[in-house]
Amino acid sequence: MTDRLSHPDQLPENVAPPSYTPADHGPGIVHIGLGAFHKAHQAVYTDTALGLHGGDWRIIGVSLRSPEAAGELAPQNGLYTLIERDMQGSSARVIGSIAAALCLPDDRQSILDALVSPATRIVSLTVTEKGYGIDRTTGGVDITHPAIAADLATPEAPIGVAGLLVWALAQRRAQGTPPFTVLCCDNLPENGPMLRELLVDFARRTAPDIAEHIATEVAFPATMVDRITPARNADTLAAAREMTGLEDAAAIETERFTQWVIEDHFPKGRPAWDAAGAIFVQDVAPFEMMKLRMLNGTHSMLAWCGFLSGHRYVRDVMRNAALVGLIRRHLHAAAATLPALPDVDLGAYADALATRFANPHLAHETYQIAMDSTEKLPQRILAAAVDAQAAGLPLRAFAFATAGWMRYALARHDNGDEYGLRDPREAEIAAALSDVESAAEIVKTLSALPGVFPETLRQDAQWQAEVTEVLDAMIALGMKEAIRREASASP
Ligand code: NAD
Repeated sequence: MTDRLSHPDQLPENVAPPSYTPADHGPGIVHIGLGAFHKAHQAVYTDTALGLHGGDWRIIGVSLRSPEAAGELAPQNGLYTLIERDMQGSSARVIGSIAAALCLPDDRQSILDALVSPATRIVSLTVTEKGYGIDRTTGGVDITHPAIAADLATPEAPIGVAGLLVWALAQRRAQGTPPFTVLCCDNLPENGPMLRELLVDFARRTAPDIAEHIATEVAFPATMVDRITPARNADTLAAAREMTGLEDAAAIETERFTQWVIEDHFPKGRPAWDAAGAIFVQDVAPFEMMKLRMLNGTHSMLAWCGFLSGHRYVRDVMRNAALVGLIRRHLHAAAATLPALPDVDLGAYADALATRFANPHLAHETYQIAMDSTEKLPQRILAAAVDAQAAGLPLRAFAFATAGWMRYALARHDNGDEYGLRDPREAEIAAALSDVESAAEIVKTLSALPGVFPETLRQDAQWQAEVTEVLDAMIALGMKEAIRREASASP
């Protein structure tokens, strides 16, 4: 049935097939982290670029752990339906840029071969913030991270990002093959330099002669990536069936908006992503900061507070006037911490974000956004709070968001029902909070988690007092009432 995805003439008229013949284009990219976001973002830019300018730039998609993505895509020759949704409605197209879908436990040799192949000129990644094993206090490897620990022990049989990339770069150098460009597309600040620092530190510990090569000869362009892409659910597959008339196990849905800002540093070339709408700049950092603090910071705040006040989806949160007021306050406070960007109107950006969050056709769960919060809090909320503190700006919006996370970290609703935090530090948080009762003790305990809170906030009595006051209200009054009061007290 899904074979019809390969036959453009058999698709309904309103479903666009790839505008090129996929099999005519060889692979040039290995992408690690074959999740929803890659399929809605980089794979789509590549699909458009192939249609406009061709080239051997198809993607070998790799999952390091779960066989699910490869299991869905492989039987469909890598083809899948992308559903794009905005206020006006939905449309579907078939994406043809994924040449192969592999899973490390099952396809190890093919993946290693692809990583050392001269044809591979870019290795891109979306393995989530926690996938890398970065020690946020040093920028080097976190030796307690399971994949880092395994790869430090047996670097010749790598299973994680750092181990695989360092192994592959060493093989390529030994064979006289130029290094690939490493393109991190996860929501991490200065994601290119951050990944370079991680790999250099990993190499120093396992293959010191390659560390300098990675530091000086491998390109790690930074990126800012933006396209709100919820985890797929049964409705996605039903919508794909309705729109295409086909069973498509790999279908994905996303918003119509998309943005990709990339540092222009690709020594071995790249697809014509600019023709597909990507923006190439010399310095991505200001765009990245804008997106992390305004979109992602507000998303996290509304996810914790929305989830705890009974809102399953972001679109439901956007129907609650009190939460919308606090979202507006957060967007404004985050914008005030940003440097001016030429041609960017932060007020208009905030308005556009509020509209995107309210998209009624997108089922984005607050619980999904709340996942892995300890990996997200520093760059999304706390970095902005530190800059606000230094500039003498009000801290309340960031204190409120932080209290929201701390309330969420208690892992129980107001009625006592428990939920899993789905955070790599879940056990550590539960143990730290096990005999802690008052808001002040909770704030003190969570602020002391290694590598999360900057010292300057921990030492700020005013900050601690504001977080404690909000958290106390959230616990004593319940989330709904605490949100209502906060919104009515804010300008
Ligand atoms: P997803 O859950 O669909 O996919 C995550 C991918 O990462 C999977 O391939 C998974 O196997 C892999 N992964 C997860 N934990 C890992 C680990 N510990 N080690 C190795 N691999 C691991 O999520 P997604 O929607 O594709 O989002 C992935 C990332 O993309 C986000 O964390 C974020 O950094 C970035 N991003 C997502 C969105 C979005 O709206 N979904 C938007 C912008 C950026």
